[in-house]
Amino acid sequence: MIKEIKTIDNFNFENQTALIRVDFNVPVNKFYRITDDTRIQYSIPTIQKILSEKGKIVIISHFGRPKGIPLKTHSLKFLVNYLSKKLKITVNFFGDCIGETVIKKVNKLKNGEILLLENLRFYKEEEKEDENFAFELSKLGNIYVNDAFSVAHRFHTSITVLPKFFGKKNVLVFLKREIQYLDQFLYGKGKRPITILLGGSKISSKIEIIENLINFADYILIGGGMSYPFIKIKGGKIGDSLIEKDEKIEKTLKKIFHKYQNKIEIIHLPIDVVAADSFKNEANTKTIPIHSIPNGWMGLDIGPRTIKKFCEIIEKSKTILWNGPMGVFEFQNFSLGTRFIAKTIANSTEKGAFSLIGGGDSLASLRMENCDKKISYLSTGGGAMLDSLKNKMLPGIKAII
Ligand code: AMP
Repeated sequence: MIKEIKTIDNFNFENQTALIRVDFNVPVNKFYRITDDTRIQYSIPTIQKILSEKGKIVIISHFGRPKGIPLKTHSLKFLVNYLSKKLKITVNFFGDCIGETVIKKVNKLKNGEILLLENLRFYKEEEKEDENFAFELSKLGNIYVNDAFSVAHRFHTSITVLPKFFGKKNVLVFLKREIQYLDQFLYGKGKRPITILLGGSKISSKIEIIENLINFADYILIGGGMSYPFIKIKGGKIGDSLIEKDEKIEKTLKKIFHKYQNKIEIIHLPIDVVAADSFKNEANTKTIPIHSIPNGWMGLDIGPRTIKKFCEIIEKSKTILWNGPMGVFEFQNFSLGTRFIAKTIANSTEKGAFSLIGGGDSLASLRMENCDKKISYLSTGGGAMLDSLKNKMLPGIKAII
């Protein structure tokens, strides 16, 4: 699959107008200061390559969920200063993304210049795979570049329909890098041992990953709210701990236990938990075995024995993927497990392991520990990463191969 994707690497952009679909949907505070610019950082090399080759750049992106309404609060204009400083050139901006005036602005661009257009989602058509909207956008460049892995799982016009208007030879991507990293896990290509850590609350969004990766991983460590359905199905008492209500989960878990009997030891569940008598930071707590949580108590973090066991596995792993917190890390008193895991993955990376981390919560916990810079690759695409790990062909990739 990967071989068929054309990347920007072997392309010269001189005299070309590149229409780049990026994901500049970055978190901002109430003053529109960017609180995490990872997504933009990842697109900077693409932009710089095109500019250095004297190509013209038209940038399109979404920002938030304005649902087809041109809301001032959702304008991309706040990025102009930031981008101009980062790129050390003036970034032009226009407050629309289709139409005659936009085309005129594009036609006026000189080689090595850049134009940022307004939020695609000011048009409801962006989220509806709309041919006409795609056609209008296609007038804004002669090369289409998809540099937005984090939206590659969406059936949105600029991702799946727009490339069709350019013809295969004029469609390029930069997201090959993300796909190559994910391949280390998907096909067991990475150095062994390969370890996958999954946590968080929505087991329904990650259960297919376990099914898929059990064939390639050496260790699958499950923590957080995801672990309780496993414990329950094995006959443990989980008290009032989180359990996602979905009939399919029980069926799928039974299937995994049955189908992969000979591989089931790959899956490691917590041994102990920090249980609380209510869902709040100041709750009373006790550390108890995960199989015997009394009614009225809920497991909100992994316990010390689990931390030790999981960290020992991480320390000997050479390829590590992590998505989802080990507990309710937003509460300081239940964040220890997640923070320990974050630090241990960072330390292993420093010692030579490859680490790929996705999902906003895992990234947030790395930042809490000041070790996000030590990770090999921070994936900006939570949903796209999860879908790839389920071995689903992402619609954004399907559209360009
Ligand atoms: P997800 O979106 O599935 O990655 O879930 C992330 C959320 O899971 C975070 O907000 C955590 O607070 C929550 N979470 C993790 N562990 C637990 C737990 N043991 N009980 C309840 N919520 C949890």
